Amino acid sequence: MIYHPENYSIKDQRMKPFIDPDEIWNFINYSKGDKHRVREIIKASLDKKRLSLEETAILLNAEEPDLIEEIKEGARTLKEKVYGERIVLFAPLYVGDLCINNCQYCGFRAENKGMKRITLSKEELINESTALIDQGHKRLILVYGEHPKYSAEFIAETVNIVYGVKHDNGEIRRVNINAAPFDINGFRTIKDSGIGTFQIFQETYHEPTYAKVHLGGVKRNYDWRLTALDRAQEAGIDDVGIGALFGLYDWRFEVLGLVRHVNHFEAVYKVGPHTISFPRIQNALSLNIDKAHLVKDDEFVRLVSVLRLAVPYTGMILTAREPKEIRDQVLRFGVSQIDGGTNLELGGYSKAKKDTQDLTMKQFQINDNRSLNEIMDELIKTGYIPSFCTACYRLGRTGEHFMEFSVPGFIKRFCSPNALLTLAEYLEDYAPQDTKEKGYKLIDEKIADLSNHQNVEKLREKVNLVKDGKRDLYF
Ligand code: SAM
Ligand code: SF4
Repeated sequence: MIYHPENYSIKDQRMKPFIDPDEIWNFINYSKGDKHRVREIIKASLDKKRLSLEETAILLNAEEPDLIEEIKEGARTLKEKVYGERIVLFAPLYVGDLCINNCQYCGFRAENKGMKRITLSKEELINESTALIDQGHKRLILVYGEHPKYSAEFIAETVNIVYGVKHDNGEIRRVNINAAPFDINGFRTIKDSGIGTFQIFQETYHEPTYAKVHLGGVKRNYDWRLTALDRAQEAGIDDVGIGALFGLYDWRFEVLGLVRHVNHFEAVYKVGPHTISFPRIQNALSLNIDKAHLVKDDEFVRLVSVLRLAVPYTGMILTAREPKEIRDQVLRFGVSQIDGGTNLELGGYSKAKKDTQDLTMKQFQINDNRSLNEIMDELIKTGYIPSFCTACYRLGRTGEHFMEFSVPGFIKRFCSPNALLTLAEYLEDYAPQDTKEKGYKLIDEKIADLSNHQNVEKLREKVNLVKDGKRDLYF
């Protein structure tokens, strides 16, 4: 059976589990396509159509090297055609590592007695935020273990604290959240603190595997987690991020699980997720997983390309879990957000030293600990436009990821100018001289590319205002 959202009544689906493993396995086992069919599917995606589960499965099943290359090329073209060269930057900030759950892949799990348990005090949270502001960050994701101490009220308070920190010309303008699932009231409390995206990863969409790796605590309940972002939607949070932890189960199953999650949201809430994350399992204190499903580098590149084509309008997040070489490669296939200057050690940013190999202070090991400026410099050199833009969210233009995608000219009118303005702010306030020179050269080139555009004169004026000390200018 091919999944069509319209075949499912909305009332039937609200806050109900929606994964049918047999349906997913049928798609994996029986969806095959020749070269012609694969090309048709890539074309549909380039025409901005979200792919069905069957079409996605056909791409996942393409094994011939030349077809895999065509899929990667399709993802690259889609990224260039739809999103241009912007890459949004953010940093994760771990607020506390207390946890009642026993997820076998996670260093924070309750049974890990060797983990140093830390919850940042108000002062420490301010210090961490200040250190991140001083790197040049404007967007953070706050991360928490699952624990009664980390109630909705606690999370809302930490969000308010972070928004309240100002240092020199800097401030955090958008706070996203990655935390445990709440009930509708809890989500409402957190929404009211003014968050951007609420991220919750299903980890694995395969229920028996889910049961095997979640051995204690509330997180054992697969359905409570699967329907978590439905409750967020019911609470008015329409900006949600989904994800799967790759390496727990068959990667093709997880990709189809993610796509099924997307079409569930589209059918029920008329809006897909804002972002998709696809973390691969990294080393962690007493990591205890079956290694049979670990995802190899070439499979990872394939899965990112297929996801890009399957859900062409959604932001895709790639984190410092991956080493620089993989990040450089995968960036081209459709990633829209990356972190920079990442330090997962609790309280690590304000200690002004890089993330270390000490697993007792963090959830898992990262593999890219370049500073934000090293990453900025490299992006600029490669011709990407690093962006700290938060304009849409602050102007209430929610669903901006969808507008970027579906409103002709939106990127040229808003996203590119705003990316360049936030880059100019970074260059003025945080960049060393050589990055600054390269950065302004890039800004001049990109403004020249926009030369026929209606906002270009205003953009030139605003860049000059930034040079004169004005901040937070946007379209
Ligand atoms: N406690 C919250 C929860 O479980 O939803 C917050 C999640 S955790 C702090 C953020 C994400 O990191 C998890 O959802 C999981 O996908 C990922 N993660 C956990 N252990 C990992 C590991 N060893 N390697 C890579 N990612 C991991
Ligand atoms: Fe706790 Fe989240 Fe880690 Fe599970 S993944 S042990 S819930 S912090």
